[in-house]
Amino acid sequence: MKKINVDALFLGPKSENRKFFKEMLDFMMDEHIHWRRDFHPEDEPAVSISEQQDKDYMETLEKTEEVLLELTNKLKVSSMPWFSPRYLGHMNSDTLMAANLAYMATMLYNPNNVAFEGSPATGPLEIEVGLQLARMLGYDTRKSWGHITCDGTIANYESIWVARNLKSIPLAVKKVEPGLVKDMDDWQLLNMTPDRVLDLVDEAKAAGIFDKVRDYSVRGVGMLNERLGKVLVPQSKHYSWTKAVDVLGIGNDNMLSIQVDENFRMDINHLKNTIDGLISKKIPILAVMAVVGTTEEGAVDELQEIVELRREYEKHGVSFYLHVDAAYGGYARTVFLNDKNEFMGWDNLKETLHDLDILHQETDWPAKEVYEAFKAMPEADSITIDPHKMGYVPYAAGAVVFKDKRVLDLVSYFAAYIEEKGASDPELLGSYILEGSKAGAAAAAVWAAHLVVPLNVTGYGAIIGRGIEGANRFYNSLITEKNFDAGGRRFKVEPLTKPDFNIVDFSFNEIGNSSLKMMNEFNRKIYDLCSFHAGPVYADDWITSKTDLSIKNYGDAPQEFTSRLGITEREWEQVHDVYVLRSCVLTPFLVKHTTYEAYWRNFMKTMRKKIARIVESESLKKAA
Ligand SMILES: *Cc1c(COP(=O)(O)O)cnc(C)c1O
Repeated sequence: MKKINVDALFLGPKSENRKFFKEMLDFMMDEHIHWRRDFHPEDEPAVSISEQQDKDYMETLEKTEEVLLELTNKLKVSSMPWFSPRYLGHMNSDTLMAANLAYMATMLYNPNNVAFEGSPATGPLEIEVGLQLARMLGYDTRKSWGHITCDGTIANYESIWVARNLKSIPLAVKKVEPGLVKDMDDWQLLNMTPDRVLDLVDEAKAAGIFDKVRDYSVRGVGMLNERLGKVLVPQSKHYSWTKAVDVLGIGNDNMLSIQVDENFRMDINHLKNTIDGLISKKIPILAVMAVVGTTEEGAVDELQEIVELRREYEKHGVSFYLHVDAAYGGYARTVFLNDKNEFMGWDNLKETLHDLDILHQETDWPAKEVYEAFKAMPEADSITIDPHKMGYVPYAAGAVVFKDKRVLDLVSYFAAYIEEKGASDPELLGSYILEGSKAGAAAAAVWAAHLVVPLNVTGYGAIIGRGIEGANRFYNSLITEKNFDAGGRRFKVEPLTKPDFNIVDFSFNEIGNSSLKMMNEFNRKIYDLCSFHAGPVYADDWITSKTDLSIKNYGDAPQEFTSRLGITEREWEQVHDVYVLRSCVLTPFLVKHTTYEAYWRNFMKTMRKKIARIVESESLKKAA
């Protein structure tokens, strides 16, 4: 297997690939200029050269220049340096040159992918991207369908939109043509498997009643009652879910949070108990959502267990829609695909990753459960995956992929494909997605990225592998650092969990401090010194993000972590909230930049200095 050279893919922390980047940008700009001129060369120029000498003409150009200078000044003073390994905060990193250049070039043509008419070039690219993602996620590309959304939030909305409409179809069929669902009571109708509902849709179409069925489904009659059941999500869910159930009229009361375990993965027993409890009360389950790569911890829910659970329940006449929110972690499936895009076996996976130099010998990744979760992804009915996160493309590009493209008819307002022209490209994408007008440039960017970087271990796997490697080393360093001196006092640092993936959360505490409130306050001060305030950003030497793990959102899952930092269980029970620093290691340059060891030494030196500053300001306060 030959893998891609990761360093040649990005502009780079020091703009190492500037020459190539500028050459290509210049070339694509020229292409665009000629394209305009070559469109009916017989047409006269709209603006003559002498007109261009007019005073107000010159002033207008000057005004444009002034504004652009002001903008570039703002950008330089206070943009976040995603490209640098000194930035280990949110889900950001340098983006692929292929994607950036594709975006910039396409933007000049300004295609609108809402309809084929407005995007003959980039509309088809979006459909192709959908299929590329479907293949990578393990779906059968003859049956599946996906498209680019503006983000993961909208992708999640769309999945629950489909799940909601799907759940309501059997009851609607019963109203319109009871013969099609003979001998089935409401409970059975509300527990049809998603596949079976889509078969029923086909039967309704064959009977010529589908339009009427849709009118009687939830999209026609609304969500005035709760009969469609509950949406089950892990406590670790992204906050877009709270908004999704609101917007779709499901309501937050109908979304139940399942506890997470000490690894911040959904507790499968709790899930099972919750489902059993609902069944005993004859409340259906509208959908279960699992997260692959939680936003705060990078944890991977044990999807394989949930798939198995659904299989078991289906034997007893209970079924539900299964969605995977892999907005963050989805692209990591590439690490498991060989150069023929086959999901690799477990037995020599780690060896292969070491042999290919995707991970260093000392990095022991993945855990078996994480491997199994990624393997089980094609069992889900739909998956959210963000190209603008682990796809290393610029905003705005999320995506949603459905296992069975028949779901399109549950949400469409027009026939989905231009049948009469025999084309396979959708005429009006906007008629069966949540959004309207949308950037063709985003589709071009993702498409170009996927063509340059194979969606398997030889491409994306190599980039993401570097992040995983970086996160694991960073985690190991935190574990081994133990106690250290700063400002004449003793401190310690602890990581939250061993990363399932590439996010490392951690907190500091002063040795001997057993007050959780004080520890939280201390980490808040550290965060203040490790985040952007007023600029210029050049003054920031290490930048991270933070999160709060409270009992409300996480139950007692964080308690074990606080105890490692010297906080008693009683103290946890009083405060029920721990402040952690959060580092998403997307950057492929952490394990590259000088050497990792030098990076770590520099990091600790920086942290000691910052902590010393905090100690100093505290003693000043005391003295005053
Ligand atoms: C980032 C994220 C989202 C939301 O995606 P956006 O692109 O920011 O809208 C949803 N779910 C998870 C798990 C995420 O990490």
